[in-house]
Amino acid sequence: MNFDIKCLVRERILKMIPYQSARRLGGHGNIWLNANELPISTELKLKHHNLNRYPDFQPCDVIVKYADYVNCQTDQILVLRGADEGIELLIRAFCEPGLDAIISCPPTYDMYGICAEIFGVKNKQCNTKTNWNLNLLQILSNLNQVKLIYICNPNNPTGNIIDISDIKYLLKMTLNKALVVIDEAYIEFSNQYTAVSLLSIFPNIVILRTLSKAFGLAGLRCGFIIAHPEVIKVLSKILAPYPLSSPVIEIASIALQKNNIQLMKNRVLELIENKNWLSHELKKIKIIEHVFKSFANYILVKFFYPELVFNFLIKKGIVLRNQNTKLYLSGCIRISIGTRFECLELLKSLKELSYMEIDKYDKS
Ligand SMILES: *Cc1c(COP(=O)(O)O)cnc(C)c1O
Repeated sequence: MNFDIKCLVRERILKMIPYQSARRLGGHGNIWLNANELPISTELKLKHHNLNRYPDFQPCDVIVKYADYVNCQTDQILVLRGADEGIELLIRAFCEPGLDAIISCPPTYDMYGICAEIFGVKNKQCNTKTNWNLNLLQILSNLNQVKLIYICNPNNPTGNIIDISDIKYLLKMTLNKALVVIDEAYIEFSNQYTAVSLLSIFPNIVILRTLSKAFGLAGLRCGFIIAHPEVIKVLSKILAPYPLSSPVIEIASIALQKNNIQLMKNRVLELIENKNWLSHELKKIKIIEHVFKSFANYILVKFFYPELVFNFLIKKGIVLRNQNTKLYLSGCIRISIGTRFECLELLKSLKELSYMEIDKYDKS
């Protein structure tokens, strides 16, 4: 029987390239430093469950704990299946397909543009300046029909922090025109830069958070939107009837207990120490052109021969994230901070390659 799915599927879906997640890219290896996950798993045990019953639409206990953790009101929080669902939910609620637009600021997280594309919403790309600061003038001159401005802070994959005064300026300029969405997936690694306190001043700020990164629960699929209660009400209208499964709610609740938050903070400190040490060691390696300062749990590194390095490491079972083809990122590879052992293995391989390359150079 002849079956041609192409005549059924929406044209833009036919043409689009899906998000190249670390899992979809796959690969083989034993040292995974490509998805910004925490290298160690925390042990959280489940109680017995009556899974015949639907869970609550929004888990009250998780919301109370998260509100206390970020220091905001409970009616300012929505719990979802990861920050990625938040990115999509906002577009579905605020952007009319074919009419409205979002702004994203490459180089940044690709999902903002991909989600917009799926819904037929225009993605106006306002590239950052070459130092990765926001290009405010370009953003301001592109605000027509824009409902959402996505800013990732700290930015993935560059690792830099966006100036809080730039964020405040944008919030002022877009009041009653657009929402400014600050994706704080990695904020626990630089907590002093959170924009949560701006919620009490600007009603048009929306903050995305997740348990996937610093909390070490990427497998759980749990994230949060923090926003004005009116924004939360609108988003609640279109969220799935039972977005979170009962086991997810239970584990999230345990992860947000005071003692477990303290453990998370300790792990973050340990990881930052590891990052600073790795960054220092990387700077000594000859095949590396530049090691960028990072405020998150990964480091962006510029190599002279990125493909050579990437493929050499793959053969050694070390999987990094190649960023070489992205705007402003030629030569760049992103390295998630693993355990001290994993970092040592990485350094060992990079030094080995470095010596091989220097040898070649000497002979020629
Ligand atoms: C990892 C990541 C996300 C996705 O978080 P989930 O909660 O796992 O969906 C969102 N934004 C950025 C910038 C990320 O790096």
